[in-house]
Amino acid sequence: MDQSKKNVGSASSRRVFMMQVAVGGTALMAGSAALAQAPAMVDPASPQAQSLGYVADSSKVDAKKYPKHAATQLCSNCQLFVGKPTDAAGGCGIFPGKQVAGKGWCSAYVKKAG
Ligand code: SF4
Repeated sequence: MDQSKKNVGSASSRRVFMMQVAVGGTALMAGSAALAQAPAMVDPASPQAQSLGYVADSSKVDAKKYPKHAATQLCSNCQLFVGKPTDAAGGCGIFPGKQVAGKGWCSAYVKKAG
């Protein structure tokens, strides 16, 4: 066998190996995400969310309907938010068993003390 053919063979098997590593890594990440099983996000279209004016993006609040809303009011700095201020999502006593968006808002907003 000449040397050039051998090199082609080993390069392609290296490529296959790298692809297997990549695929395996993705499967592992998907597996750990499934294990973590974060609670579902609150659906802004659900009746409870609608009645409280919940939105996943505080900048989308209807200013006419909620004139007291301010752009600085976010779930992540609300007294009822269960999580760190930097968390993208967290729990909320108003929506048990669900998660609200850190940048979300609802009319039950209470500024976090401190
Ligand atoms: S009560 Fe606070 S944390 Fe819960 S949805 Fe309303 S603004 Fe967000």
